[in-house]
Amino acid sequence: MEKIKIGISACLLGENVRYDGGHQWDRYLTRTLGRYFEWVPVCPEVGYGLPVPREAMRLVGDPAAPRLVTVRSGIDHTAGMKAWAEKKLLSLAKESLCGFIFKSKSPSSGMTAVKVYGDEGVPSRRGTGIFAGAFMARFPLMPVEDDDRLHDPVLRENFIERVFVSHRRQVMMRNHS
Ligand code: SF4
Repeated sequence: MEKIKIGISACLLGENVRYDGGHQWDRYLTRTLGRYFEWVPVCPEVGYGLPVPREAMRLVGDPAAPRLVTVRSGIDHTAGMKAWAEKKLLSLAKESLCGFIFKSKSPSSGMTAVKVYGDEGVPSRRGTGIFAGAFMARFPLMPVEDDDRLHDPVLRENFIERVFVSHRRQVMMRNHS
């Protein structure tokens, strides 16, 4: 059976790309879903040119339009990350992806409920990572989920079903073109 192409935050596959030099390997994704899915890994922070290890970043400001800033030195990477994301999305558009699994809580990759820090340093959990937000704006119909939400059986089943529907649609279009 043809494997279904799914984009994924690279650290979930065990790649050592996190700010601290580690990874976030997810057994269920790699061992179970990996039987059906062909992964297209993306690490926005390394892709954008930041080193491993690197200073941690966080979202600050307006949760609807947050900025991506390094925690200690306060360097603002928002514009650079957005510019990189636009280029990366052009190449991903050619990949025939049927979905994307994002690393939860990440200021670059998190899909939902990412902490956004206000002026007083008090975080709300209403943000979306800069790359994840750009991805969803570019592909609004693509099935997407955060890795931690996939531990919920209902959300997981719903995501997988949407991925298979998306794949069937792609195969039909391919066969009729
Ligand atoms: S969460 Fe995203 S930016 Fe952070 S290490 Fe994983 S893939 Fe890279």
